[in-house]
Amino acid sequence: MTVSTISIDSAFFRQAFSELAQIGRDPSGRGYQRLAWSEAEREAHRWFRDRAGQLGLEVFTDAAGNSFAELASPESGPALAIGSHLDTVPFGGAYDGGYGVVGALAAAEAIQRSGLKLSRPLRVCAFTDEEGPRFGTGLLGSKALAGALDMDLVRRAQDREGTPLKDAMARFGLDLEDLPSAARVRPTFLGYLELHIEQGPRLEQSHIRTAAVTAITGIRQVSLHFVGKTNHAGTTPKPDRRNALRAAAETIARFSPWVDAQEELVANPGQITVHPNAANVVPGEVRLDWDVRSPDPNRLQAAVEYLITVAEDVSRPFHISVDSQIFHDVPPCPMHPDWIELVASAAERLNLSCDRLVSWAGHDAGVLGRVMPAAMIFIPSRAGVSHAPEEYSTDEAMLDGVRLLAQTAADLLTREAES
Ligand SMILES: [Zn+2]
Repeated sequence: MTVSTISIDSAFFRQAFSELAQIGRDPSGRGYQRLAWSEAEREAHRWFRDRAGQLGLEVFTDAAGNSFAELASPESGPALAIGSHLDTVPFGGAYDGGYGVVGALAAAEAIQRSGLKLSRPLRVCAFTDEEGPRFGTGLLGSKALAGALDMDLVRRAQDREGTPLKDAMARFGLDLEDLPSAARVRPTFLGYLELHIEQGPRLEQSHIRTAAVTAITGIRQVSLHFVGKTNHAGTTPKPDRRNALRAAAETIARFSPWVDAQEELVANPGQITVHPNAANVVPGEVRLDWDVRSPDPNRLQAAVEYLITVAEDVSRPFHISVDSQIFHDVPPCPMHPDWIELVASAAERLNLSCDRLVSWAGHDAGVLGRVMPAAMIFIPSRAGVSHAPEEYSTDEAMLDGVRLLAQTAADLLTREAES
């Protein structure tokens, strides 16, 4: 194998990373505003295509607004895809998504320069709307590619100002009804490798430099709707109080310690809407939204069922009724066992310590991994902070990850040549 000739151009990586970091930076210094379908996010995609074009890669886009850049090979066939996303959450950091895209560009540059004979094209991907806070349509770009979009949901999607997703896409010349056609490109994918910051503290705390992700967590978001009786906070006799907020609070108090005692399970009561929301009124109606996560589908299912049982049990004495609705459901996605091993073995040859970790955050690899082989590489996040302006990884850690990505990609392309 000629893989030892692959060396990352660290100046190229740093330069490209700092160029992207100029786009969508909040003027008040509070992080990044590259929300999907904003001018800034589209500008980041244009930047990506320009940068890739300068490397001589063949650039194209799809109906979902994803951008691609391909390094051709003498042999045709499905491409090995590497990349991440270019959108951020509101007031997000520079590293989530952007690092993986720039790292993939730097890996492609290094592989191109290495002279390695590619048996397959290498395709750098920049996905759109991975985060989804504006329209509630997270993972939109990769779902469109995977053919996994719920078109009814997408057609109904609108932001807080009431702008439909359809109009936001139309501003950039894209037709929402064309989204399913993005799946046409899928058969041309060999598989997908994504480089990403960990977004948690485990690697930093263990002083391990990289990780191969074993599985991407499943996520189920559940809305509990408690209905009691709105009444006067002072005059209502105690036995007659049907306080929906109290039932919601007891649900949190009873379910949370149970979750704490479980392995491979987290659950977060994250949003509550109280009606009518006044101190002197017994609240008759509460909506309580939970985010429940596990890499194990059975645990996830059991936890959501138990949450609903707890809510019903604690509500009964207060004569409160409970409805539940799952409003976001992403099944867990194991990474491809062979590809996990390839990442680990490449790390070993590069003398990089490599852990194996579950990803508790969702990623495009979790969508694509359901329709093609996929793997992910993590690098340490300082203090485990992400989705915040303080998000940070050192240059050294970032270059470790890019080297590992390039090596794993080269191994995959070489292995395909041999098979
Ligand atoms: Zn991300």
